Amino acid sequence: MLKDIKSMTLEALQEEFSALGQPRFRAGQVYRWLQQRGVSSFEEMTDLPGNLRAILREKYYISVATIEKRQISDYDNTRKYLLRLLDGEFVECVLMEYHHGLSVCISTQIGCKMGCTFCATGKSGFSRNLTASEILSEVQTVERDSGQRISNIVLMGMGEPLDNYENVMRFLSLVSSADGMNIGMRHISLSTCGLVDQIYRLADEKLQLTLSVSLHAPNDAIRSKMMPVNRKWNVETLLKACRYYADTTKRRISFEYAMIDGVNDSGACARELAGRLRGILSHVNLIPVNTVDGAAYRKSGRIQAFQAALQKYGVTATVRRTLGEDIDAACGQLRRRAETEADLSADL
Ligand code: SAH
Ligand code: SF4
Repeated sequence: MLKDIKSMTLEALQEEFSALGQPRFRAGQVYRWLQQRGVSSFEEMTDLPGNLRAILREKYYISVATIEKRQISDYDNTRKYLLRLLDGEFVECVLMEYHHGLSVCISTQIGCKMGCTFCATGKSGFSRNLTASEILSEVQTVERDSGQRISNIVLMGMGEPLDNYENVMRFLSLVSSADGMNIGMRHISLSTCGLVDQIYRLADEKLQLTLSVSLHAPNDAIRSKMMPVNRKWNVETLLKACRYYADTTKRRISFEYAMIDGVNDSGACARELAGRLRGILSHVNLIPVNTVDGAAYRKSGRIQAFQAALQKYGVTATVRRTLGEDIDAACGQLRRRAETEADLSADL
């Protein structure tokens, strides 16, 4: 079994190299080839002696993602990528342009176990976790294709990042490392549907990343219908964890709220939401729900009114711009392509 060398931190690589009897600085060289340059073979590591490259080839593999398809939005230049991993699985990610730079929305799992009723990924079932190097390869592949430096990363693509905790933490440490892509934690957001035990764990890591919590409803009656996870950890339990997170990290939490017509968009919902968020360092992000094929719900027409109501109750709320609507690149519309590949027309 070959080992996944691109998932190794610099320290882990240094240990491997000392076990191989190699000088320590070689680990740094290899790490930079993998993390900064994103090479796909040991042959490209031209400053290594040939015998070392041969040893590495025998013991390790380099995880890469190749572009299978790419779609570019006619509206706003948002790009949706379908990437192929080494085992033939596909993963989707989205590149967005903002005034402050390029942001990439990446996936952390192939599919998702959480089954939220409004989400395309949730409907496609779960296949497997992504490794740290696969998550990193998404960023590297998209960056190379764009020809520009990526400044922000959002873990809001396919999958539940906190359900793949170790690999996601490893990815965060790789991507933010000075000898790697060096993207600071303050430029990274992680979105969760509310795995309470892992939110406590994450809080104690005291990272400077932005935590987004997909709340979508002010109470259990509504939230449990939309999100099965709410039956395990209800709104009160979740918000208690959020309060702990904000207090521990001193970072503002961003609550995601997908506005669905007649479900969670009433004035009473706004009032209840504001009451529950009182005392938590937070911000609400209102998202016009994206309708997934065959869905029985519609976008709310009350988004501005809801925002105004929240503001009246003292809660700051913004309405999320939807990007890439014509290519289904918006939140919750990424799904496994193996079964639906035909409808992703090739723009390569
Ligand atoms: N699993 C994580 C991250 C991936 S989903 C989570 O649930 O937070 C990214 C975001 O898209 C979440 O806020 C999710 O609730 C939202 N989302 C899913 N389906 C959506 C839809 N149809 N319309 C709008 N937002 C959606
Ligand atoms: Fe999974 Fe997030 Fe979709 Fe829910 S919204 S099914 S947690 S990806």
